Amino acid sequence: MNKVLIIGAGGVGGVVTHKCAQHPEVFGEICLASRNEAKCKAIADQLSRPIQTAQVDADDVEALVALIESFKPDVLIHVALPYQDLTIMEACLRTSVPYLDTANYEHPDEAKFEYKEQWAFQDRYAKAGNMATLGCGFDPGMTNIYCAYGQKNLFDEIHRIDILDANGGDHGYPFATNFNPEINIREITANGRYWEKGEWVETAPLAEKRTFDFDGIGEKDLYLLYHEELESLSQNIKGIERIRFWMTFSEKYLTHLKVLENVGMTSIEPISVNGCEISPLQFLKSVLPDPASLGPRTKGKTNIGVILDGIKDGKRRKVYIYNICDHEKCYEEVQSQAISFTTGVPAVTGAMLMLEGIWKGEGVFNVEQLDPNPFMERIGDMGLPWQMVELDPDQDPLG
Ligand code: NDP
Repeated sequence: MNKVLIIGAGGVGGVVTHKCAQHPEVFGEICLASRNEAKCKAIADQLSRPIQTAQVDADDVEALVALIESFKPDVLIHVALPYQDLTIMEACLRTSVPYLDTANYEHPDEAKFEYKEQWAFQDRYAKAGNMATLGCGFDPGMTNIYCAYGQKNLFDEIHRIDILDANGGDHGYPFATNFNPEINIREITANGRYWEKGEWVETAPLAEKRTFDFDGIGEKDLYLLYHEELESLSQNIKGIERIRFWMTFSEKYLTHLKVLENVGMTSIEPISVNGCEISPLQFLKSVLPDPASLGPRTKGKTNIGVILDGIKDGKRRKVYIYNICDHEKCYEEVQSQAISFTTGVPAVTGAMLMLEGIWKGEGVFNVEQLDPNPFMERIGDMGLPWQMVELDPDQDPLG
């Protein structure tokens, strides 16, 4: 009977635990561990089958190794924070447990995220015959798999990719982030960046804007951001000439963010307050609504997908592959809004394929390096059905 160890009891951790619990034929035993065990127990109480819970500081490799050695999992799903990627990868390597995560390593003090340190585990994982699957959420994750599916089944070469991430959900708060505020705000306030003709092109934060009419949501403003899947997709999609990432933000959200930025609240530089050193962004996180609390209030849908533009049998082809997810339906099923749902479901599906030996390998893999077809066959039944639309190759839907 397979055992899964889940690290992190936030919004995504809740979805992952619910989804694993729904599949006892694959995940026979579950242990949910996090910094604060009470949060794990609160999630455990929502389930119809018993699971184990544990307290662990995932910044501490020795503590992780001790937990892994006592529970003996067959796979570990890391849905704590990106700051813990390296310590958890190290612990999995030492204990020969396959590893899966949903976000690349973020330097706690540098507002910078990249795969370099995780890719540096490649030789050690390969030598140990162990497998690490990186970035198996929605974006990164599902979006990379849509691209890999296109590369394998729909195109001879993909030349241009646009990733479109729209959230048409409304939680009723004037300002809140849909996932960890610290990670979210750091991502949005950074410079935009996209890949074109072998080089990174940098833009000022939120400087590039387009409008797009989303199925299920309607017309929304999209802004160009740097997003972590661009780093691996620019290397793994053969013939790629340009790849960009776009996310929707409302005027209200951007106005709040601008004010917070202007008064210094989005800075990660520690300041002294009454003798205490605190980072303004961490303080802001503690006064904003907890993303896990948005679930019961959020109405509306997300629509996330990719537009692939390339060549098939000597002719130009353009397709749009996307998923629409309904916040309220997610809440009914797993007591969480769609952002955590769309991240947690691919993570569980990836872990399933690893446990079943369908996704296998020795080393460190971004999801687009693994076979997309079994994933695409299963992900609809897991809760994230996808649609594909053929577009006119001569029309640019982003203008
Ligand atoms: P949350 O902040 O809601 O949850 C993070 C959890 O990790 C919390 O339970 C937190 O504990 C726990 N944690 C933090 N530090 C430690 C530590 N040192 N040791 C043990 N546990 C720790 O975040 P989300 O659930 O929204 O996001 C989880 C992950 O998913 C993040 O890495 C995020 O970047 C990623 N993500 C990926 C997406 C994708 O599409 N690929 C989209 C959205 C998120 P505590 O409760 O005590 O703070």
